[in-house]
Amino acid sequence: MRNVVIIGSGPAGLTAAIYSGRANLQPLLIRGVEAGGQLTLTTLVENFPGFPKGVQGPDLIEMMQKQAAEFGTEFKEGNVTRVDLSRRPFVLELGEERIETRTLIIASGASARLLGLESERKLLGHGVSTCATCDGYFFRNKEVVVVGGGDTAAEDALFLTRYATQVNMVHRRDQLRASKIMQDRLRRNEKIKFVWNSVPTDILDPAKGEVTGVKLRDTKTGDETLKACDGVFIGIGHSPNTRLFAGQLEMNEVGYIVTRGGAKTSVAGVFAAGDVQDPVYRQAITAAGSGCMAAMDAERFLEAEH
Ligand code: NAP
Repeated sequence: MRNVVIIGSGPAGLTAAIYSGRANLQPLLIRGVEAGGQLTLTTLVENFPGFPKGVQGPDLIEMMQKQAAEFGTEFKEGNVTRVDLSRRPFVLELGEERIETRTLIIASGASARLLGLESERKLLGHGVSTCATCDGYFFRNKEVVVVGGGDTAAEDALFLTRYATQVNMVHRRDQLRASKIMQDRLRRNEKIKFVWNSVPTDILDPAKGEVTGVKLRDTKTGDETLKACDGVFIGIGHSPNTRLFAGQLEMNEVGYIVTRGGAKTSVAGVFAAGDVQDPVYRQAITAAGSGCMAAMDAERFLEAEH
């Protein structure tokens, strides 16, 4: 029987592990499919306090992991396949394995959203990508399209200018959602071209197994055009990884776990931290902060039970 099991290994899960480890609760942390979370897919993080020159995302995660291990966190590779939160102790299944725990901290984060086109699915990994920092290198001296108008799309577009000859930012409106500083950087970069009021309706050419262009629909006129390119990066935001908990925990209309009074969910003894419960801020530092809250709430819950 475990005191605390943490699902997720991004800044929320790892901070929860550091705090519950220091509270002598010997946490078990299940790393999940995208181990390390979204920070492992990024390069320089300039806004995490304490690093005046910035820090590489994967390095930051590695340091947090070491810190969590220092205080007795046990790490487990793999993915939770089923949970039963209807009675205590809670039961988690990882394939054949069954784990029982007094408290659960959910920090399973969010994953990149897709447009939902069949051609996009077919070409994922063959010219279509959701991670510029992972795949940008393959587009040296090529032309690419980035879809989206938020900070993710902006960051992707700027990163891709290191390799691509031209980066076309396709956005469904004529105003970016990205922060002011990112907008300024985009506008100053000569390799970046904006394609306003446009959405992709198809990506060519699944038959060839590579990207040759994108069909775009003008959201104002409905006109369709073809933009030739060699790669498409989807940067349209993220969805929370909460399918496992559907019907067992209160969620908002788009599937984020609802937390109240700190990190408490609708089930006593279950806490949530990081992007899985945060549709608004979604920053590494806010995720880390809420991981701390979840661990303290779990500790208090266990104390009150005794
Ligand atoms: P976001 O802010 O929700 O932006 C998503 C963008 O994709 C929006 O421009 C949206 O258009 C567009 N979009 C959504 N669905 C679409 C669809 N089906 N077809 C076409 N376009 C679609 O998501 P995000 O950029 O991932 O950022 C999330 C959070 O993380 C934000 O708080 C952001 O500040 C933060 N973040 C920060 C940094 C940084 O500080 N360096 C980097 C990355 C992310 P509309 O604008 O029309 O809604």
